[in-house]
Amino acid sequence: MNDHDVLARAAAHAQRYLDQLNERPVHATVTAGELRQRLGGALPAGPSDPAGVIDALVANTEGGLLGSTGGRFFGWVIGGTLPVALAADWLTSTWDQNAASVACSPAEAVIEEICGAWLKELLGLPATASFAFVTGCQMAHTTALAAARHKLLAARGIDVERQGLYGAPPLRLLMSENRHESIVRSARLLGIGTDAITLLPVGGDGALELDPLATALRESDRPTVVCLQAGDLNTGAFDAFGEACALAHASGAWVHVDGAFGLWAATSERHRHHLAGVERADSWATDGHKWLNLPFDNGFVFVADPEAHRAVFTMETSYSAASQGVREQRDWNPEWSRRGRAVACYAAIRALGRDGIGEMVARCCDLAAQLTGGLGALPGVEVLARPRINQGLVRFLDRDGAHDARTDATIAAIQASGIAWFGGTTWRGRRAMRISVCNWRTTADDVRRTLDAVAEIVKRETP
Ligand SMILES: *Cc1c(COP(=O)(O)O)cnc(C)c1O
Repeated sequence: MNDHDVLARAAAHAQRYLDQLNERPVHATVTAGELRQRLGGALPAGPSDPAGVIDALVANTEGGLLGSTGGRFFGWVIGGTLPVALAADWLTSTWDQNAASVACSPAEAVIEEICGAWLKELLGLPATASFAFVTGCQMAHTTALAAARHKLLAARGIDVERQGLYGAPPLRLLMSENRHESIVRSARLLGIGTDAITLLPVGGDGALELDPLATALRESDRPTVVCLQAGDLNTGAFDAFGEACALAHASGAWVHVDGAFGLWAATSERHRHHLAGVERADSWATDGHKWLNLPFDNGFVFVADPEAHRAVFTMETSYSAASQGVREQRDWNPEWSRRGRAVACYAAIRALGRDGIGEMVARCCDLAAQLTGGLGALPGVEVLARPRINQGLVRFLDRDGAHDARTDATIAAIQASGIAWFGGTTWRGRRAMRISVCNWRTTADDVRRTLDAVAEIVKRETP
């Protein structure tokens, strides 16, 4: 057994998977119980042939993988993988560098430096902001809120990295009722706690209302973070960044932006206006594994005040000048040893360029509009939210008024068809089907095939 056999085998399996992607069922066709049966068993007592292990892995996961990297997966906000990013990801694993530090891999440290600058330019963020490559938006929030905690408490004479939160005044987080749950998890992890969260109402357009924000800011002089959103999960709503930042900054609050996918609207001239004023925030969290179509394990955080960011992570040993004048990743990242995840990002940006990324984003928005419009034209389908960017909502109406049950049943029938995959959500108290288009593979033909399949299901299910 040499390296070549097992790697060639994996490459062949990967190629076959991608070749068949367009014709495979999009949903999983086996249960977790069946998968456990196939994959499990007693702890292996001794060695097996590596190529055989890879073959069995492929055979035994068959039917247990979602077609989420294909063109007709419209659930959550997932994104696929650009072939060039996948290829770079293979190399990342092959090189197996530790991206903790310049000393462990000068190439990956430099790639990260370059990508950080490129991303700030692409997303319209201040060139002076610091950044980190993290696992996803969840850790991007955690990193940003740790920097906010440092800055807000330092202003009150507390060195939180040394003292912890003991004796510190409690922080306060103001956010929209449409926030993503990941922000709440970061508050739990950082010792800020969920009691610190105040949810504020949104208006008809899904944006945080400014008057209640102003009132909440006035009500207390506790150290405060205002969490804004660029693109909410259900309708892609954007908060009024300029106005909200002005209010928050006037009372000394830190502004954090959850832009997991919505921040990418900045790359398209047609959609950039939604983000007006976003550059005035103090920190920004976004994903590479969603709309940039990188493989999973790719999130980015940016912080306007590099000192607040660095104070959280830097160690005494790295106070010494960064080696060779290159940015020391460990000074900005929550992890120590880690994967060189910027490599896939680098390859994607090189391959698409600014124009290619903007075109991919705009194309997804157009296809989301076509898909939502096409669904809305079917009998018994009501559009609840037309996409502003790439997210829309519809529901399926029932003759007897049981719209929620009808909507859930129709979503289940579409999933079971294997042609396309959508998820359900509850929006303003009603069940709805969410439409998310953020995969580079999705084409107008995918939209047509999906609409045909849904039309068939709606016809069949209408008594
Ligand atoms: C996906 C998402 C997150 C969480 O991102 P992860 O990459 O899953 O950690 C946060 N906010 C919004 C709006 C999202 O869509």
